[in-house]
Amino acid sequence: MGDRQIFPVQTNKTLTDNLATPLLPRYIKRSKTILSARTMPESFSPEKNASFVVLTGAGISQESGLETFRDPDGIWSKVRIEDVATPEAFARNPDAVHSFYNMRRARHKLATANPNAAHVALARLETEWPGEVTIVTQNVDSLHEAGGSQNLIHMHGVHSMARCTGCQHIVDWEGDMTTAHVCHVCGEPGGLRPHVVWFGEMPLELDRIQAALMDCDVFVSIGTSGNVYPAAGFVSIVQKTCRAHTVELNLEPTLGAANFDEGHYGPATEVVPAFVTRILGTL
Ligand SMILES: [Zn+2]
Repeated sequence: MGDRQIFPVQTNKTLTDNLATPLLPRYIKRSKTILSARTMPESFSPEKNASFVVLTGAGISQESGLETFRDPDGIWSKVRIEDVATPEAFARNPDAVHSFYNMRRARHKLATANPNAAHVALARLETEWPGEVTIVTQNVDSLHEAGGSQNLIHMHGVHSMARCTGCQHIVDWEGDMTTAHVCHVCGEPGGLRPHVVWFGEMPLELDRIQAALMDCDVFVSIGTSGNVYPAAGFVSIVQKTCRAHTVELNLEPTLGAANFDEGHYGPATEVVPAFVTRILGTL
C-alpha cells in the first residue's frame, strides 16, 4: 500500500464523523455501494487452510466482569477522557492518570482469573483450525492470554505492561505504578507510563495488523462498537484488498452491521462458541 495512510490515529469520533474525515482511504466511503451486492451465506464453509483475523473489543470481556467504555453506563460516562487518557493529561497530572490506571489494572488482574467461553472458544479455534488464526484485540485486559490464545496483537496495549517515556523500554508490570518508579534500563525516574494507547496516539503494531488483514480469508469482528477507527475500518480493508468473508458477532447489530456478510447477535459467550463450533465442524 506504499506510504498511503490507512490507519488514522485513534480518536473519540463517531462513525458518522469519521466517514467525513479526509484521513480515511477513499474506498471506505464507497463501502456501502460495494457491499450492497453481497449475500448472507450462513452456509459459508472456508477452505481448510483459510486464515482468520479476529478483531475483538470490550463486548467480549463484558461477561468476565469488565465494563465497556462507550455504553451509556461505560467508563467514559464516569471519567473524562481528557483527564486520564491522553498524553496531555499525563504531562499535566501524572498522579491522576496513574491512579486511574492503577485502579483499572487491579480490576483487570482480578478478571484475568475469569476468561469466559468466548475467549476459550477463540483459543480452541487457534489450536484446532489448520490455517492461521490471528486475534487483534482492542482490549487492554489479558483475558485472551488467560483463555489460551497465543497469536495475539494488543493494538491498544495492555494493562499488565509499563513503558518508559524516555528510552521506550517495555516491561511486565504488576501492581501500582507511580511517578516514584525508576526505569531500570535508562535509570530515569518518573517516566514510566501504562503501556496503553491514549487518545491522540497511534495504535500499536499496525504493520503486522495490516499484513494479517490483507492476507486473510475470513474476518470476524466480535464485541466491538464499530465506532473507533482504525479498527472500524478493518472490514472495509479486507473486503477491498482480499475479498475476505466477513462476520459480525455482537450483542446487537452495530452501525456497520450491513457491511458484513453475516452477523450473529447475542451474548458473546453464546454466539462466539457457536460460531467456532460451526467453523470447526466444516473440517
Ligand atoms: Zn527508560
